[in-house]
Amino acid sequence: MTPPADTTPGLVCAHHHLYSALARGLPGPAVTPTTFLGILEAVWWRLDVALDLDTIAASARLGALEALESGCTAVIDHHESPHAIEGSLDVIADACAEVGVRVSCAYGVTDRHGADGAKAGLAENERYLRGLDPADGRRRGLVGVHAAFTCTDDTLAAAAGMAADLGTGVHIHVAEGPDDAAAASRLAGLTDERWLLVHGVGLADHHGLAGTIVHNPRSNMNNSVGYARPTRFANPVALGTDGIGADMLDEFALAFARHREDDVTAGADTAWSWLAQGWRLFPEALDDQVRWSYTPMEPWALAYTTDVRPLEVSVGGEVVLADGRATRVDPVEIRAKAVEAATRVAARW
Ligand SMILES: [Zn+2]
Repeated sequence: MTPPADTTPGLVCAHHHLYSALARGLPGPAVTPTTFLGILEAVWWRLDVALDLDTIAASARLGALEALESGCTAVIDHHESPHAIEGSLDVIADACAEVGVRVSCAYGVTDRHGADGAKAGLAENERYLRGLDPADGRRRGLVGVHAAFTCTDDTLAAAAGMAADLGTGVHIHVAEGPDDAAAASRLAGLTDERWLLVHGVGLADHHGLAGTIVHNPRSNMNNSVGYARPTRFANPVALGTDGIGADMLDEFALAFARHREDDVTAGADTAWSWLAQGWRLFPEALDDQVRWSYTPMEPWALAYTTDVRPLEVSVGGEVVLADGRATRVDPVEIRAKAVEAATRVAARW
């Protein structure tokens, strides 16, 4: 049966950082960073060390709520909290379950905090993945790696081996900025089609890595790292937000505009195919339904229509958003708790 023209399956965000939802409530860096590495050091690597399990939960609830309010019912998350590693992926998965959003969790392993830190990250991925119920389509997982440039070869090999042993892929940032230019050679021989290769801005056209490239146009613009030009890759391409919300219609429209800026003959179907690739990565979202404020939900129309909002969302048959409002949780309370949590993080900042 053809679905009504105002209805789609649940949208998928193929790369998110739910832990970054509180960043908006924090003071800016004292000195404005001038490079991509400088932004990591001044913002993200200060935020992740300030997180504990309580603030991770508050951040994940807010991120999941914002996803739901944008019609995104499946989030592929990439998490880091060096001072609260053990149990962190369950905290995120539980927060998403409260709101009613599906999640695939991964802990971003890194050697930035020494070999013990990398081991603890690997252990958290393994602990979480071994605890998953294969029948539970709301909770899934990948092995996370921050990026090749912050990991030793041993750590990269260990993560790849763990993913293969556990029957899943690796979720890793690849050549996002110049500091990770060696990513393709560092990862050669380790990847397979289950991997998520996030960004790929600095990858050569024929880079030799297997997996899905996840394109995050707004984040790439925000970090001034350049345009990834994803059409040049033989790999499948999916769309993510890199932690800037989970409004996938908005990210689609931006991906289209960025494509069009590079090639004025570009059609909307290409960027839509990147959005649709999310359903290959998280097929359970096809069981979800979003009724939108606009019709028809078609690529060319949506490329030029702003402020399309979900009116009703059901996940696995359960209505989790009605009249634009979450049914399982109190959005006012989640936002108030997020402000409190951001204040606690700021005190450690
Ligand atoms: Zn990212």
